[in-house]
Amino acid sequence: MSAVGTLDVGSRHDLRVGHSPDAPDEGDFQDDSKGAFGYVHSYESASRFDGPGLRVVLFVSGCLLRCSYCHNPDTWHLKDGTYISARQVIDRLSNFAPALRSLGGGLTISGGEVMVQLAFSERILAAAKEMGLHTAIETSGFLGDRADDEYLSNVDLVLLDIKSSDPETYRKVTGRELAPTLRFAERLAKIGKPVWVRFTLVPGLTDDPANVEGIARFVAPMKNVEWVEVQPFHQLGAFKWKALDLPYQHSNTFAPTPDLMKRVVEQFRQAGCHAR
Ligand code: SF4
Repeated sequence: MSAVGTLDVGSRHDLRVGHSPDAPDEGDFQDDSKGAFGYVHSYESASRFDGPGLRVVLFVSGCLLRCSYCHNPDTWHLKDGTYISARQVIDRLSNFAPALRSLGGGLTISGGEVMVQLAFSERILAAAKEMGLHTAIETSGFLGDRADDEYLSNVDLVLLDIKSSDPETYRKVTGRELAPTLRFAERLAKIGKPVWVRFTLVPGLTDDPANVEGIARFVAPMKNVEWVEVQPFHQLGAFKWKALDLPYQHSNTFAPTPDLMKRVVEQFRQAGCHAR
């Protein structure tokens, strides 16, 4: 059992490692605490990019994907996160709640992958809803089958990362299968849950016009998808790969040029998506 620590304010760009050496492996994590405790990387108190309005963004630990361009590999393992109580998160969030409400914002839980710690994230999302806050999760959708309707009822917006439309490219990027993500997207469309699709544009990896087209055609008919956000690859996470002694494939990958960004956003728009 990991020692209970303190919730640290910080940034997604902070390197956090080895805070809970006794934590279980994220692959076979069983939440014995029913969500009363969980593992977190950090939180940001004022983001304007992770949902509407001003957001508190909580970065939880644990992810089963291994994206080759991941900006936060220090969120992959529960053992790198700090073990804290949900109560601590909820109390901290309540301090921000009046400001978040007045600025039309709320809480976003990102990671890592939020659905690795399903009960923990559900408890926090439900508490945020009780405070009258807008709630969002950012997810790859890979574990979407785990989220029951009750879970989704506490989520106002899903920021769904679709990393590729091509199963082979998806496997190359993440080490996992594409199908669960598409299945989750279809389920969200069926229940009319608001979604912002996020697509990370990595030159030489995800920028193939056919790959973009595949996502655009899949998403365009979905009335619940409010935005497609094209996010440019960057190198801000490269230092983490080095610090963790992980093989990084993108040392020589550049951020997409403005022309490439424009081409891809236009591709989504041409297909009928609201894209930015
Ligand atoms: S899903 Fe997100 S946190 Fe997980 S490896 Fe991919 S980019 Fe990193």
